[in-house]
Amino acid sequence: MTWLDIPTDHPFGPGALPYGVFSTAADPHPRTGVAAGTWVIDLPAAVRRLAPQFAGAVAGPSLDALLAAGPDVWAALRAEIGTWLADEVYRELLPLVPATEAVMRMPFTVADYVDFYASEDHATTLGRILRPGQEPLTPNWKHLPIGYHGRAGTVICSGTDITRPSGQQRRPDGSVIFGPSQRLDIEAELGFVVGTPSTLGQPVPLTDFDRHVFGVCLVNDWSARDIQAFEYVPLGPFLGKSFATSVSPWVLPLAALEHARIPAPERAVPLQPYLDDEKAAPGGLDVRLEIRLNGHVISEPRFAGMYWTPAQMLAHLTVNGASLRTGDLFASGTISGGSPGSLIELSWNGQNPLRLPDGSTRAFLHDGDEVVISAYAPGAAGTRIGLGEVRGRVVPAPSL
Ligand code: CA
Repeated sequence: MTWLDIPTDHPFGPGALPYGVFSTAADPHPRTGVAAGTWVIDLPAAVRRLAPQFAGAVAGPSLDALLAAGPDVWAALRAEIGTWLADEVYRELLPLVPATEAVMRMPFTVADYVDFYASEDHATTLGRILRPGQEPLTPNWKHLPIGYHGRAGTVICSGTDITRPSGQQRRPDGSVIFGPSQRLDIEAELGFVVGTPSTLGQPVPLTDFDRHVFGVCLVNDWSARDIQAFEYVPLGPFLGKSFATSVSPWVLPLAALEHARIPAPERAVPLQPYLDDEKAAPGGLDVRLEIRLNGHVISEPRFAGMYWTPAQMLAHLTVNGASLRTGDLFASGTISGGSPGSLIELSWNGQNPLRLPDGSTRAFLHDGDEVVISAYAPGAAGTRIGLGEVRGRVVPAPSL
């Protein structure tokens, strides 16, 4: 317990301390904060009183300065906040806002957005659905983490409505139509937020992951399967993916996941040295997700067992010398460990619609549907570390 009376099993307990950006009705200026139980600590106000050496790192309407400050500052600030919560002397000094009064904002400026495809369960199931009778995994899949560059400008904060996208689709008879997507889907993913930039021409090795990556957020990578299916050959995903990608408002520092680190699965083929993590520290993460559709739990995928680790994704995306910028976001790809992280899998491409407890069925999302993805990971001594949630509601396509 702390003097704030945060139960140790609270998802935002003393072991979590995620960072975000918030405003209040009384003070509409977006500012940085850290979640502690049912409270948000107003960080600029707190460091002004208690730790002015961090004033620059927590300044501004986003986490950008903190991300750029680097791992030494990340560790020092986290230790400082831990001190505040452990000692009652700070009770009168800490500027606290009830979490219920905090309006959460986009936490950081997204530089580049990359989306991977790192779940063997997801890639295998999609291969079976889309290429029946063939080898489900493509020949490259176990040699490198497949990814593509997404659209950074449409990464949006949890709670923002998702406008149903329109686009060209091919009907089963071969004719091509234009209209609102009929196969709007979700993808439950983890996102990794880059803090420290890297130098153009210099790959980032597996061992430097913690120096460059600040933390983790939840991602719902909304996908229009019908638009994607017609457009993606031969250059890959485009309008079927670029209309919206939602992120959770709280970014959990990597340090909060130290008890969630687990070994990656056994490697089926030998890896190139830049990806070979056999002798590296455990790179997997035991994060458990829950997907709710209109309040009903429809799936509980697990990040444990993801074939490619976040450190391998980072090493791969820089191995050609591509540099990192503060605010780069790379997502894991749909997490389907033990339970699918998308409707295309849950409904087998619409052939077996889900039946919800209210009696309705879903192959894909209807207008008005709300999807909430939440997650937690093991913390110290049996505690849980929450990642919060990412939420979005589908609204109808505008008439064109
Ligand atoms: Ca994705």
